[in-house]
Amino acid sequence: MHDVIIIGAGPAGLSTAFWCDELGLDTLVLEQGEEVGGQLHRVYNPINNYLGLKARNGAELLECFAADVDSAEFDLWTQTNITSVDLKAKRVSLASGEELQSIAIVIATGVRPRELGLPGEKEFAGKGMIESGARDRERFAGQDVCVVGGGDAAVENALLLAEVCPTVTLVHRGKKLRARPEFTEQLQAKHCITVFTESVLTRIIGGDHVEAVEIQRKQGLKPFQLAVRGVLIRIGVEPNTQLFSEQVKTDERGYIAINSLQETNVSMVFAVGDVSNPVAPTISSATGAGATAAKVIASRLNAK
Ligand SMILES: Cc1cc2nc3c(=O)[nH]c(=O)nc-3n(C[C@H](O)[C@H](O)[C@H](O)COP(=O)(O)OP(=O)(O)OC[C@H]3O[C@@H](n4cnc5c(N)ncnc54)[C@H](O)[C@@H]3O)c2cc1C
Repeated sequence: MHDVIIIGAGPAGLSTAFWCDELGLDTLVLEQGEEVGGQLHRVYNPINNYLGLKARNGAELLECFAADVDSAEFDLWTQTNITSVDLKAKRVSLASGEELQSIAIVIATGVRPRELGLPGEKEFAGKGMIESGARDRERFAGQDVCVVGGGDAAVENALLLAEVCPTVTLVHRGKKLRARPEFTEQLQAKHCITVFTESVLTRIIGGDHVEAVEIQRKQGLKPFQLAVRGVLIRIGVEPNTQLFSEQVKTDERGYIAINSLQETNVSMVFAVGDVSNPVAPTISSATGAGATAAKVIASRLNAK
């Protein structure tokens, strides 16, 4: 029996564990990945907005976190396959057959990139699907590419790729790009970027590597093929809540609903970080939420 089981070891889960440890709680963190860090593994841009620390990328910031994680005394299991969670009973079942029990559960499972669900999207992973403009642009230098999405991440990536690619085609479903003016204004100066609004990607085509995409412009028009060697998809994220669905209150987009103490509607079940739809989904919000949850759990347990 543990005091706290934390599911997910991104910045939110690690911070919760760190604080729980500091407050003397018996804490177990369960992470499905091989390593801790969550989205930090996908941050290739410099991190200049975490107070007191500057890092060249997520991996570097993670090294700073790791020093604290290593010196703390909470239990951390990586590569853990959770098959089910009974939030009311605070019971976690693993694929290994183990059953774990705690007094409190903290959900820190974060978000994952939304997929288009197109044929070819998964098959071309590593064969033309671009994960990050910052990381992959040298690999795609001199090649024509397509970016899907209309928000900050899509436009920022299109701008990065436009520095090295002869053409960048930005495909956006909506009538207007949603990215902030700081990014959209730069688009005008980049003649190699073509923007197709009210358009969707309908196929990714190729053999051993991406060779083209099929684009459907406005309803009713015939789709056309565009030769590209790379495709980057940035159409937002969705919360990792599959394990908890039906058991806990969520908002209309599936993010876990919490109060200002990080509490869900289930007694002694908390949610922290991106999975709880913070106003600012950032590393600092995630780590702050972890501190709040740990403090509340400690005070509830001490009151018993
Ligand atoms: C490209 C990019 C750039 C960014 N740049 C910045 C920046 O400059 N500054 C900033 O503050 N923020 C930035 N962010 C956002 C920041 O990374 C996130 O806000 C932060 O990582 C959220 O932390 P989290 O712990 O809530 O979730 P995550 O980081 O998503 O971690 C969730 C963890 O839970 C695990 N998990 C999920 N499901 C399960 C399960 N069923 N069982 C066990 N484990 C599970 C995942 O494997 C993961 O390790 C950026 C994000 C991206 C993608």
